[in-house]
Amino acid sequence: MKGQFDISVVIPLYDEEGSLPELHQRIVKVMEANDFSYEILFINDGSKDNSWEIIQKLALENQHVKGFSFNRNYGKSAALQIGFERVKGSVVITMDADLQDFPEEIPELYKMIVEDGNDLVSGWKQERKDPLTKTIPTKLFNFVTSHSSGIHTLHDFNCGLKAYRLEVVKSVDVYGEMHRYIPVLAKWNGYEKIVEKPVRHVARKYGKTKFGMERFINGFLDFLSVSFITRFRKRPMHFFGTLGLISFIMGFLMTVWVLFEKQYKLYNEIEPLREIVDQPFFFLALVLLIIGSQFFLAGFIGEMIVIHSNKRNDYLISDEVNT
Ligand code: UDP
Ligand code: MG
Repeated sequence: MKGQFDISVVIPLYDEEGSLPELHQRIVKVMEANDFSYEILFINDGSKDNSWEIIQKLALENQHVKGFSFNRNYGKSAALQIGFERVKGSVVITMDADLQDFPEEIPELYKMIVEDGNDLVSGWKQERKDPLTKTIPTKLFNFVTSHSSGIHTLHDFNCGLKAYRLEVVKSVDVYGEMHRYIPVLAKWNGYEKIVEKPVRHVARKYGKTKFGMERFINGFLDFLSVSFITRFRKRPMHFFGTLGLISFIMGFLMTVWVLFEKQYKLYNEIEPLREIVDQPFFFLALVLLIIGSQFFLAGFIGEMIVIHSNKRNDYLISDEVNT
């Protein structure tokens, strides 16, 4: 997919007034030095400081700057999604606003997409400048994600600095806290050329981190949703129907067995060892039949929801500039 620009930079931000001017200035310098046509999309995720005023000012000075402002804080994923829906550049770069990543990496990332033919290049903060309470759980998170998703080429799934081919960002739907799993979503959409580039990383200069320890629990739950939803969201009946069918058939066979045994013994006048209601199979059969039909019902309801929902997002944009 050829874009209108060489590069779109997408920057989600929440209370980052301190770093915005320097960030903007360094990106512009890189773009001009390399003769890139570009746009920068700042997505203000409900900041309570002066971030939005600063973005409006930058947009006045520089026509390549576009800004979107949420009416409240929706989270990094929603901010990225808005950016992904609006971008027009052949290569899309995402970057945190806190200057922990270097805009100077952009030309190399661009080259890895355009010349080397990759779909997604993820930054790898090889030497991470964050506290241990963050780096150790992150290692575990990366290990689990890489093994369960089959993306063995990445060490650092959650690096804010990434580059994508335009069609890759158009194919993914980032919501909740799915921003940690964009490579997984991309892979499931068939974009499998996913590589990484070691990037420099520095400690935060301005402001403070927006994510605490709860990120790890939420992150794990999101992973379960990611694996379920990417596979079955458009066809819930395949998931629930399969489980329902297995359960129902087992229950049915047991019922047949229980009835057959009873009839057989009655017919041949054998003294039954026990009544039907004293048999474990009887109860198991009941439970399996009921659970089986419940799964079916869940599948049907899921299918109806899928048919009737074409609403993808639930956020409101309250203001825009240069768009
Ligand atoms: N961010 C956001 N909305 C949020 C939380 C964070 O847009 O609700 C932005 C934040 O301003 C920054 C990026 O996401 O640009 C990464 O956040 P942060 O630096 O706090 O994460 P960390 O580097 O500590 O993982
Ligand atoms: Mg940061």
